[in-house]
This record gives sequence, C-alpha cells and structure tokens, in this order.
Amino acid sequence: MRRTMVAGNWKMHGTRASVAELIDGLAKQTLPGSVDIAVFPSSLHVGQVVNGLQGASIAVGAQDAAVQADQGALTGEIASSQLVDAGCKLVLVGHSERRLLLGESDEVLNRKFAAVQSAGMTPVLCIGETLEQREAKQTLEVVGQQLGSVIKAFGIQALVNAVVAYEPVWAIGTGLTATPEQAQEVHAAIRAQLAKEDSEVAQGVRLLYGGSVKAANAAELFSMPDIDGGLVGGASLNADEFGAICRAAGN
Ligand code: PEP
Repeated sequence: MRRTMVAGNWKMHGTRASVAELIDGLAKQTLPGSVDIAVFPSSLHVGQVVNGLQGASIAVGAQDAAVQADQGALTGEIASSQLVDAGCKLVLVGHSERRLLLGESDEVLNRKFAAVQSAGMTPVLCIGETLEQREAKQTLEVVGQQLGSVIKAFGIQALVNAVVAYEPVWAIGTGLTATPEQAQEVHAAIRAQLAKEDSEVAQGVRLLYGGSVKAANAAELFSMPDIDGGLVGGASLNADEFGAICRAAGN
C-alpha cells in the first residue's frame, strides 16, 4: 500500500520573517498521520525550517542539488552531502522551471538524481509537458521520455527510493488544473511504463500530481487510483491552505 504524500514547494519565496510565520502556521495545523508531508524552502532557509519544524512530522527537502554528492570546487552549488548535513531528506529534481528557464538537460538531471540518492536522500523527479506539447498530443511521449531517461541511466531499481511528480507545465502557477481524469490518464501511463520494467516497483512508486493544487480541488485529484498525493507550489505558502490539502490527502 502506498502512503500518500503532500509536498510544498516554496520556490524562491520567503524572508526570515515570513518563513518564521509560515513555520508557526504549520505547527498549528492538525495534520493526518497517514500522510507523508514535506516542505521545500529555499536553500537559504533550510536550516531555519529544519529547526522550526522539529517535532512537527514534516520533512524538509531542497529544491535543487549539485551534480555531485560530495563537497568540492563548484561555486554557488550545494552538494547533496551538505543538504543531508543541514537536515534535508528529499530533493526536487527536474522541476520544469529549472528544465525550461535554466536549461537543465536530462543528462544534468540524471547526475543530480544519482547524487541525491547516493547521499541517502529521496529525489522527487518532476516531469511534465508544455501546453504546446499537450496540444500536439505529445504528452505521454514527453513524460515517457523524461522518466525513461532515468530508467535508462540507472535501471528500474533506482525508482524504488524515488518519488515521481507529474506536473503539466501549463498548470503550474497558472490557476489551470488538469482535471482528475486528465491527470489520472498520465499517472496510469507512468505506472504502466514502470510496470513494463518491474511490476512490483511500479506498484510501490508514489506518483504525485502538481499544478495549481489547492484545498478546493485536492480531494478530487487525490481520489484517483494512481494519484498518490500532490506537489503544491503557490498554495503551500499559506499554512491553513496547505494544512487543508494535507487533510484532504488523509481522507
Ligand atoms: C510547483 O511549482 O511545483 C507547482 C505545482 O506550483 P503551483 O501549485 O503554484 O501550480
């Protein structure tokens, strides 16, 4: 049985003061014990969030990691081993904002994926199509290729300690959400792709949906058989809203 997961991507938001407020708000939430909950603050605030959420049953993750696990001469980057030292348990890999705005290729993302795992953290691999690709009916091909790149590089067993987040680019930060049926169709295809390699692994991997998830649409999305929770951007910056999404995942 897969445990549901809700992850909050805070993106490039927050000051020490607003992060402190968000931590306070999260600590006041009644959160379901049946859901794995994680937040991904900016790297600058990871330490503050790890300290502030002690005892809150909320894991802390990073939004990115360097292509190598160990410390070294790589100006501006953060090694996975440093993230572990700071208290991170998970790392987002391949968020569309990094793929599209920063030009991160599958090759670079594969190195990040491997570095995160080798340091003992869980990569949350983000995949998804643009609006243009959806309109050209290339969704399953694009998503299949992004996931296939990791499988090809490391084999299916690499997915055992990983989470996959399907995030249609056109739904991120736009207020447009995939319908539960649209999301389920892609999630089922992702699971079928995994099952072609290993059915046991496929049944165990958590597939999160991301793209304008909010309290009002979370329950319906999470009720679909292959949607195991959500990766939440904008709505995760509001503790009450995020708490409500977590509770929807617990029902
Ligand atoms: C995201 O950034 O991963 C995301 C899903 O954002 P939003 O929920 O704001 O669409």
